[in-house]
Order: sequence, then structure tokens, then C-alpha cells
Amino acid sequence: MTPEQVLKDNFGFTKFRNGQEAVISRVMAGKNVLAVMPTGGGKSLCYQIPALVNSGVTIVVSPLISLMKDQVDALKQNGIAAAAINSTIPQEAVNPILRQAYEGKVKLIYVTPERLNMEYFRYQLNFLPVDLIAIDEAHCISQWGHDFRPAYRQLRSAIAGLRSQPNTLALTATATPTVREDIGHQLGIDPANFVITSFTRPNITFRVVHPENSTRCYIREYLTAHRDEAGIIYVNTRKGVDELTAYLLEHHFPVAAYHAGMDPADRARVQDDFQFDRVNTIVATSAFGMGIDKSNVRFVLHATSAQNIESYYQEAGRAGRDGLPSEAVLIYHPNDLRQYRWFIDQSTADDDYRDRQYQKLQAVANYASTPECLQQYIVRYFGQDCPPCGHCSNCTDERTVQDITAESQAVLKLVQELHGRFGKGVVAQAATGSHNQRMQEIGAPSLANFGALQKLTKQAAASLIDYLVAIGVLKTAGAQYPVIQVGKRGWAVLEGEQTVTRRQEKSPDRSRTQVEESPDVAALFDRLREKRRKLAADQGVPPFMVFSDRTL
Ligand code: ADP
Ligand code: MG
Ligand code: ZN
Repeated sequence: MTPEQVLKDNFGFTKFRNGQEAVISRVMAGKNVLAVMPTGGGKSLCYQIPALVNSGVTIVVSPLISLMKDQVDALKQNGIAAAAINSTIPQEAVNPILRQAYEGKVKLIYVTPERLNMEYFRYQLNFLPVDLIAIDEAHCISQWGHDFRPAYRQLRSAIAGLRSQPNTLALTATATPTVREDIGHQLGIDPANFVITSFTRPNITFRVVHPENSTRCYIREYLTAHRDEAGIIYVNTRKGVDELTAYLLEHHFPVAAYHAGMDPADRARVQDDFQFDRVNTIVATSAFGMGIDKSNVRFVLHATSAQNIESYYQEAGRAGRDGLPSEAVLIYHPNDLRQYRWFIDQSTADDDYRDRQYQKLQAVANYASTPECLQQYIVRYFGQDCPPCGHCSNCTDERTVQDITAESQAVLKLVQELHGRFGKGVVAQAATGSHNQRMQEIGAPSLANFGALQKLTKQAAASLIDYLVAIGVLKTAGAQYPVIQVGKRGWAVLEGEQTVTRRQEKSPDRSRTQVEESPDVAALFDRLREKRRKLAADQGVPPFMVFSDRTL
């Protein structure tokens, strides 16, 4: 059987996706290969097809037991003999699986990295003709990745000890150039056999919203506009999931919760209900989605931010696997990152590792404040490039460009007066001329630029600082307690050689429209919709382009 035949006969697909053929042909030629493809890009087929074409057995190393079960079930549904060997499988069931593999009746065996590192398991494997070791989520091997797992480190020597000398296929969605190199280095993969496909997801419209009213308000409005579409709302804690779920149910949105603290039976039911379109909206922690193969997810909302771009893109990427227009919305609140920062502060990992986690947080903050194309920002983060997408919330930002050079210079001077020794909160308070004890302690009121931006709210000043960091006029230094300093572009701005612009409403201190949490939801939504229609008409854009609460 050729790979094309297997694609048609076993999976029912007519053509390969980007990168699949390149990976499969290299694997079939006996090479060690690294496949880097976005979430939903179709990495599984890259080892499943060789497994069926090869005469022997393929071992799939997968980090999560729950994920294995889903994959094995899906393969069985396609009539492909696969099995998992892990701690949930009773010991007496292991030998029959290995025997079936020996007889060619099981082609793929899913294991955890810890299992493959066990000497006795390798002893057993040595009775089998193992052709290929596929290592899924291969970024776990790297300390520079976002999910380091020590057991991945020993895989190379474990594989080298196998009698049948299988080749290795590493797969990941999230490798930055450093991680990529590290994977290649640690698994003995020649960079000539790195297959890296485009990271863009052209059918996903990325949005960042900074809600002035509550996140809940935004979500209600969003769900009302997307009632019949499947979507996932990510929240970063179990408690947060339960609370948001209760709130939405109370407001008559038929949502279901999912997190790892729930009963396994309940989780399985929720997953099934979503898969088979019985429930449209799932409120979940990041535990949800890994094993889910639902192609028509139309939106992924992040009610709280992810803690790094890798996780964000992976979760957002669960939208639109079918290639149809979909949305990924980050509802950004700086407090989310503060909480993550605290977690990193508390962790016992070594300093280098922690510093990298802090840097990853900063990249999320910059994503939330960048004026550049959001898709482009993400792709560049992963070391590739692409033109502006033309449809993300930045590409379609209709607000007028304002010259903010004077404000920027004031902040820069203030940062200099503070000797670059204070964090965003202090700089924002000093810029807006807050009178509190902290300001007194550091002698801020006597600085020339104290209160230079007093027409801004403290929040608006903090947002301005975020923006200036994101565009390189300011920078953050130090990981645990980042301080604000003059950035690369800052000197030219201070010298008056460069201007700074920002898209924003004309008057940043305009009195905000207050949307109240009214019990009469319908009336509220009517008002919002009406406003949106008017705004859209004013700006000459279709109503769906007027989204963010900041315009409402
Ligand atoms: P990844 O592991 O890269 O996130 P998966 O392997 O889970 O992605 O595949 C994502 C989806 O794409 C699955 O529903 C899969 O069946 C589908 N898919 C994979 N390859 C093809 C193809 N060549 N044609 C059509 N659909 C495909
Ligand atoms: Mg996968
Ligand atoms: Zn864009």
C-alpha cells in the first residue's frame, strides 16, 4: 500500500495537507525527522500512515494518558489496530497487546515517555519489529519549551538501546528556533530533516479586546451574537470555570463546564456532548481540547489570558480546523499576568528557567498591546514571518491614528527621573500625579514630570506604558519585579528624531459610557446592538467589525 492509498482507504481523505507528504516520505526513507506544524495541521497522520505502510510496529510517545485513549479510539473507529500501554491498563493486559503486535495485529502502541524509559518495557519491546518511534509534543524535551518534561530527555538513549534500530519522528506545534534546535540536538535529528510548515491560520481572525466593562458582559454579548456556533471559553482556574459557568447558566446561556477537577464520567459526557453538537459552548481550563477532534469550532475566547504565546496559539488554534472562518479572541486583563507572575515567583525551578517564563509572560503582554498584525506577531514569535493578515483586530482597527509623541516623551523623561528603578504601577501613578504614601516615599512629587499625564486615568497611563513597551519605546528589565526603562526606540523619541503614534479615540479621557449589569439582559443587548449598528454606519464598516467594548 502506498501512503496515498492509506490516506484514502483508511482515513477517507483525498489529499495531503501542507507538510504531511514531506514528513511521510522522509520517515519512509528511514530518516530521523522533526515535523513542526500548527495545531490542527494534521501531525498524527504523519506517523499513522507510515505505521500502516510499514511491516512492523510504531511506538507513539505521548505525554497525556487521556490523550492516548482518544487517539486509540479514533483509530479503532477507522478500523486501525492501535493500543495504549499505560498505568490505566492492567498488567495482565499488556502481554496480550504485545503478542498481537508481534503477530502484526496491532500496528501502533501509545506509551508515555516514562514507560519507554523503563528497562523491562524495552526488554519486552525487543521481541517486536519496531520500525518507528513517533514522539508527539516533542517540545516537552526542551527546557526552553513551555512544558518541559524530564522523562523526554532520556528518550534518545532509550531508543538507541532498541534492537530493531527504529528511526525517530518528533512532532510539535510550538517550537521556536531555539526549541527546534534543542529537539534536533537531543534526538539526533539533522536540520536537513526538519519539516516546518507555515504557522499561519488564515481562516482564524485574531482579536484582542480590553473590556472597559466586565469580561462577563463582553462574553454575554459575544455569545448572544454567536448563539448557534460551537465555541470554547478558556478560563485559567477551576474555580473561575465553575463561576463563569454558573453565571452564564443563570443568564440562560446553555453552556457546560470542563476541568480536571471534575468526575471523569462527567468530563467524558461533556466532551461527548460537545463533540456531537449537543452542547455548543464549553467553559474550560486548558485541560480541555487536547484530545478533542472537533473540526467546526467557530470561536475560542480566552476569558483569562494564557501564560505564554505557545499555549495561547495552541488553544486558539482549536478554532477552525475545518478551514472555515473562525475567531480567536483574547479578552485581556493585565491582572491575569500578575497572577501568573506570582506562580512563577513561588516555583522552585532554577533561575534561568524562571527568567524564561517571565519573558514568555512579557511576550503575552506585548501581544495584547501591539499595534501590529496579531497573526504576524505570533508567527514572528515562532521565528517565521508572514504578511499582515488583513482581518485581525489590529489590521481592521478603524480608529484614527493619533500623535502621542509628547505623552511618550513625558513618560520617557519620568522613567529617567526615576532612574529606571520602578515598575509599571509606580510609573503610572507618578505620571498621573497620584498622591499616596508610596509617591511620597520615593520623592516622586518633586520630579519635573510628576503628574505630566494627569488628564489620564491610572489605568490609561498603565495601558500607554504597555503600548510603549510593546513597540520598543520603553522596555522591561529584570524578571521577577520588572522595572520600566528606556527602550531601543526610546532614545530617538527623546531626541525628537522619531514620532510615536497610536490608534485610539480622539480624547483618551472622555467620559466612558457605562454599561450597567442590568437584570433586563434583552434590553441591554438591544442597546448594545443599536450602538454597534450606529458606530458601524459612522465608520462605514459592517457591524461585525465593531467588536471591542472600547468602541461601545
Ligand atoms: P495536530 O496533531 O497537528 O494538531 P491532528 O493530527 O489532530 O492535528 O489533525 C487535525 C484534524 O485534521 C483531524 O481532524 C484530522 O482528521 C484532520 N486531517 C489531518 N490530515 C488531513 C488531510 N490530509 N485531509 C483532511 N483532513 C485531515
Ligand atoms: Mg496532535
Ligand atoms: Zn492582522
